[in-house]
Amino acid sequence: MHPRDFQHGGETWRGPRGLGVRWLGTAGFELTSPGGTLLIDPYLTRVGLLRFLSRRRITPDEAAIDRAIGHADAILVGHSHFDHVMDTPHIARRTGAHVYGSRSATNLMLANGLPETQLTALDSAERTTFEVGSFKITAVPSEHSRFAIGSKVPYPGDIPCTCEIDLKGSEYRCGSVFSFLIEYGDFRIYHMGSANLVEDQIPSDAKGADLFLVCIAARFATERFVQRALTAVEPKRVVPMHYDNMFRAADKPMWLLPRTAFGRLVDDIQEVSKDIEVLTLPLSHTKPPLLLESKP
Ligand SMILES: [Zn+2]
Ligand SMILES: [Zn+2]
Repeated sequence: MHPRDFQHGGETWRGPRGLGVRWLGTAGFELTSPGGTLLIDPYLTRVGLLRFLSRRRITPDEAAIDRAIGHADAILVGHSHFDHVMDTPHIARRTGAHVYGSRSATNLMLANGLPETQLTALDSAERTTFEVGSFKITAVPSEHSRFAIGSKVPYPGDIPCTCEIDLKGSEYRCGSVFSFLIEYGDFRIYHMGSANLVEDQIPSDAKGADLFLVCIAARFATERFVQRALTAVEPKRVVPMHYDNMFRAADKPMWLLPRTAFGRLVDDIQEVSKDIEVLTLPLSHTKPPLLLESKP
């Protein structure tokens, strides 16, 4: 079984009242609506594995970012590993988008010259609710999967406020981790960008979410992650993500990350409920065609 067996046909999944959902690869999504555009963990650079492992500094691919991303009102950063935060300074600088993330993420923004007024450091212990255009967002304290040697979070700790740009891959420290409940009218999306969770923090309003965007990378490091996450969120539809090999360019055929085990994922989802629809989105670095934009 392969993610493409569950793939939605268009470049963008259409929700109610002009809501568009585009998968950018890894944990990255773009939510478009007549009332604003939201990005979550946008990562377009997709630095090569050899470059990443070379211990040299890695730089955002500004041309790739600009080809893929147009306007943005806000960027939500789930944690500050390179594949979640690295492209956000450039996007925020170009679009003026407000950045919501951990202190580690906002330190990176400040080091890149973004003004404090464009940044909100989220509380790592309490849920935070705010609005961006037509979207109501709740940032939910969460956890990163512990898959490094010794069952640890890889690259733990914070990016310091004194960091020197550009960073090496290993200097993108994890920082505090957040999931996001995004409400668009009565349509609800829950984004969980790392395969771990804190059940107690997940708000009751997340229950029955219309779309659950859930990371499946390194999920076997977390005991019964899929079953626990689905039991906590009880979604109508689950959109697995972060299964693409992010060290490979987006215009090449996708490779899956090791241990994606998509068939087992579907079994685990069905163990919780046979009523949950599994949906995957194509990895799209091209802006959606106008035709799709005008679809009801
Ligand atoms: Zn991570
Ligand atoms: Zn990641």
